[in-house]
Amino acid sequence: MDVERIGIEADSAGQEFFLRVLRFRGTGEAPTVYLQAALHAHEVPGVVALDRLIPRLEQAEGENRLAGDVIVVPQANPVGASQALFGETQGRFDFNGRTNFNRGFPPAGAETDLARPVDERLKSTLLSLACEADIVLDLHCDHDGPVYLYVHERMLEEGRTLARSLRARAILTDSGEDPFSFVLKVNQRWNEEGRANDRRFSATVELRSMIDVTADLAEQDALGLYRYLVETGTVVDRLQEAPAEEPVTGDIGAAELVLTPAPGAMMLDVEVGEWVAEGQRLAEIITEAGLERHEIRAPFEGMVLTRFNRRIVRRGDYVAKILRHERPASAG
Ligand SMILES: [Zn+2]
Repeated sequence: MDVERIGIEADSAGQEFFLRVLRFRGTGEAPTVYLQAALHAHEVPGVVALDRLIPRLEQAEGENRLAGDVIVVPQANPVGASQALFGETQGRFDFNGRTNFNRGFPPAGAETDLARPVDERLKSTLLSLACEADIVLDLHCDHDGPVYLYVHERMLEEGRTLARSLRARAILTDSGEDPFSFVLKVNQRWNEEGRANDRRFSATVELRSMIDVTADLAEQDALGLYRYLVETGTVVDRLQEAPAEEPVTGDIGAAELVLTPAPGAMMLDVEVGEWVAEGQRLAEIITEAGLERHEIRAPFEGMVLTRFNRRIVRRGDYVAKILRHERPASAG
């Protein structure tokens, strides 16, 4: 394993950020895989999964079982990780430019352009590292959710392979017309470089909830990622068959955020992964005890993909994300 340290000059005097990039060398016969965690710097289930995956990769490299290179960026966003407000790390939006770290990507070549703010140079550096690879996985998590994926609609079949390895519950597809996210941007750059005909795959992997950070889940996710690397041929190993459920799939537009029209204390009625009927109550909002109650209902039949992870809500906050989908006959 080679460790590279890439310095990124801060926009404040006397400060420098850096990225640690781990490179595991394969024989070049199989796809190169790029993995990064915590682009949203406060989303750490991916960080602990990579912590458990790295020793497996070191072992595979040591035993000459790597047929493809693996590039790992365990903490992709030192800028966001440095931002704390009132005791809480705020890793989703850049404090200075207010841009979501998973949006607003600059053109290629911006990584050393000091006329650009540090978040853009960081994103550009990550993109150029990722674009070296054939397969790119960007590890995130949701407020409160299952393991699920976002993939380009043309990549749904490969998405199913990844979903089975990770035992993901759902896949959301996107046309990629507006390459707003890191993995869609990677895809766009591959297209621009004329590498679109090769076998390329990129996915945003949502590893459950903010607080789903345990040794057991880290081990489970590391094994899922490792299983996927074996599936793609990048790591040579023999693993026992694992039971996998087919994920529920839908277009990104079919996953709708249900918002609350009233502020107050929220009591949720539904669990992540639960199937709901149109009109079924999702939550009750108590605006003022003894006075006002508001009921939030499902706009259509579908699956509760994610839930808001706070119990105090303001008007317009999201309650749950429902994936519009017919309830499968097999669902309990
Ligand atoms: Zn995220």
